[in-house]
Amino acid sequence: MSRKIQIYNTLTRKKEGFNPIIENHVGMYVCGPTVYGDPHLGHARPGITFDIVFRYLKHADYSVRYVRNITDAGHLENDADEGEAKIDKKARLEQLEPMEIVQFYTLSYHKAMESLNCLSPSIEPRATGHIIEQIEMVKKILDNGFAYEINGSVYLDVNKYNEKYPYGILSGRNIEDTLEGTRELDGQSEKKSSVDFAIWKNANPEHIMRWPSPWGEGFPGWHMECSAMSEKYLGKTFDIHGGGMDLVFPHHEAEIAQSNACNNCNPVNYWMHNNMITVDGKKMGKSLGNFINLEEFFTGNHSKLDRAYSPMCIRFFILQAHYRSTLDFSNEALQAAEKGFTKLMNAIETIEKISASENSTYDVNDLELKCYSAMDDDFNTPILISHLFDGVRMINSAKDGKESLSSTDLDKLKSILNTFVREILGLVSEKENNGNNLTNEVMEIILKLRGNAKNNKDFDMADLIREELDKIDIQVKDGRDGSSWELKN
Ligand code: ZN
Repeated sequence: MSRKIQIYNTLTRKKEGFNPIIENHVGMYVCGPTVYGDPHLGHARPGITFDIVFRYLKHADYSVRYVRNITDAGHLENDADEGEAKIDKKARLEQLEPMEIVQFYTLSYHKAMESLNCLSPSIEPRATGHIIEQIEMVKKILDNGFAYEINGSVYLDVNKYNEKYPYGILSGRNIEDTLEGTRELDGQSEKKSSVDFAIWKNANPEHIMRWPSPWGEGFPGWHMECSAMSEKYLGKTFDIHGGGMDLVFPHHEAEIAQSNACNNCNPVNYWMHNNMITVDGKKMGKSLGNFINLEEFFTGNHSKLDRAYSPMCIRFFILQAHYRSTLDFSNEALQAAEKGFTKLMNAIETIEKISASENSTYDVNDLELKCYSAMDDDFNTPILISHLFDGVRMINSAKDGKESLSSTDLDKLKSILNTFVREILGLVSEKENNGNNLTNEVMEIILKLRGNAKNNKDFDMADLIREELDKIDIQVKDGRDGSSWELKN
């Protein structure tokens, strides 16, 4: 392993050289969505952030087991310990089975991730598929004396835990801070202390999704699934755990406590968190009217949007900021990103038309070193992109005859663009992203046949081809330089 990758670890609050537990192998767990609503920007950012980590580690020759869960049980409204489950509530309102909600939104999440060209994780476990493992873990925590049962629910005893392990190491919140934020529950809760959290909940009669357990019918606490599933697939201690910054507390803090309380060992070596997004400078929220889901971005069908933005434009826009910086979505910023993305993709086409010179006026090897050092420095995609634009300027100058590249350097530059733009950043042309290569090739043939028909003045045939394609949502556009096609939204 030659690459020395630095990762900013939320736990230690500094960048550290990455050193996996097993040489050449990486275990990475990322908290996935609770599937009860349309995928939105809040899903796109962690999806893309950890896709980059996955892609780059694979490029660096690690074999990576990337586990991203689907939360389909246990997550209550407002991330609370009391109240209705998010999926149950949606099922009740829509008069559907909870699993119909789960199926519908899991598929739309997959579709959105695929449009954004995020690779599928190696394993995508579901909470409901791991109830037994969660019950076993709750039993062990009880046996170890770090939890108590009351009225069919089991709570982690945070004060007891804090006597042996430092509670709050990830978020930097101590018990007093946490008590401050949870006072309103005092007096009405069955918990010994309001800092305690549920690891198993007794199901009230209205609760739909429920399972038998040693403590009666109930369901696991939200944090439990990630502890149980990460241990099952990656071991008691694994390399990387990722998620959005909003999950640091309480979710990830609770995961650390559960694993220590169960296994007496720290579960994760490197905690990584992506920062939040805002829309027009404000937090995104349903009540604020600036809640835009991904489908609405792709179709432009939202009052806040001037027009549609393609999945690749959204991906490029997200990658233009470092994952630990906040990111503000606005029409202006997206349009600027779109220009940048088009410029980059055009350069990749232009380079194919450049003929090699005897000598080079540009140091291609230096560009490659800079690209790698950007990625090695905590996956710094904005710096990488700025170096790639250096290459773009070079390509455009070479095309105009102002600069020259030897044939070795020309090949090297093509390979740098292929590696960093396509393989690592996962950026491909719109057309390629809309379908696979076979579709592109077949469409090229069809458009050629239609062109021939037009040249032979067989306009009925040309129209027929266009109409038939239209029926399967392929739109043919006739322009000055010939015909092109795109998938209709
Ligand atoms: Zn989680």
